[in-house]
Amino acid sequence: ESLDEGLQKTKDSFFSKVSKAIAGKSTVDEEVLDNLEEALVTADVGIETTVKIIDQIEQRVAKDKYLNTSELNKILQEEIEAILVDAPSSNSYDFHTDLPTKPYIILVVGVNGVGKTTTIGKLAYNFQKAGKSVLLGAADTFRAAAVDQLTIWSERTGVPIVKQAMGSDPAAVAFDTVQSAVARGTDVVLIDTAGRLHNKLYLMDELSKIKRSIEKVLPGAPHEVLLVLDGSTGQNALEQAKQFTAATDVSAMAITKLDGTAKGGVVLAIANQFKIPVKFIGVGEKMEDLLVFDKHEFVDSLFS
Ligand code: GDP
Repeated sequence: ESLDEGLQKTKDSFFSKVSKAIAGKSTVDEEVLDNLEEALVTADVGIETTVKIIDQIEQRVAKDKYLNTSELNKILQEEIEAILVDAPSSNSYDFHTDLPTKPYIILVVGVNGVGKTTTIGKLAYNFQKAGKSVLLGAADTFRAAAVDQLTIWSERTGVPIVKQAMGSDPAAVAFDTVQSAVARGTDVVLIDTAGRLHNKLYLMDELSKIKRSIEKVLPGAPHEVLLVLDGSTGQNALEQAKQFTAATDVSAMAITKLDGTAKGGVVLAIANQFKIPVKFIGVGEKMEDLLVFDKHEFVDSLFS
């Protein structure tokens, strides 16, 4: 799906609310701002981010004395873009861009069910299509289904996979994967991990062990820790981001399932709260349905 199609539900719901907020009004007054605030909160932009946006608009109203509602859309667009700019999310990469080092190790973290495996499959497909060699590592050894699903993606994309028996040590699988990538001269390595949130210390410990074993083979790796979040869960995604960023150094995020939800505003909430770049968004179940996030395109699409 294209970005426009993928964001359709968010666009429809967000804009019907924004237009309701200003219906029958010619100037931006308290009531318009209250309605707009409500529209943003229900689009899952989150309280903190909504307050920030409303504050900015209030300041503009105070400064310009008079603001008509047709100017409001433009200002809203600018404020939303400013929030995305504030986060260092602008340096998203094209799959064709040369990666800074080889093999480039991406550790993929996130709770089960958010679309982690699918995102890994989509990334493998895209990197490979761009001419890069890819290797998958099945370090979620706790669920047989996780290894099976990753194997299916490996077959579907023709990308090799390193795996061990169910229940084996995830750090050992990660170690093997990186070692194999070094030996093969692989460009990009995608390592799946189990995202068990029920115990924070446990999660932290497990991810640290995996990271240490990767670093043992390849000092300086992993080069990216990609957190996958399900955009359709709105504020739950924010809560997961809080827990994972506390447990490990998350360097980038992928937000999935934006096609099935009107809660796309969560992308803003995440950018504002965590200042961690959103690099990819998922807009469907197919291999092609992963987009490199671009803040200008995102805002343009929301407002077009
Ligand atoms: P994991 O447990 O985190 O590895 O999750 P999976 O990758 O198995 O995905 C869980 C479900 O979400 C599957 O049915 C996927 O097809 C679906 N899914 C993943 N990403 C997207 C997306 O961007 N859009 C939609 N609509 N579905 C998705």
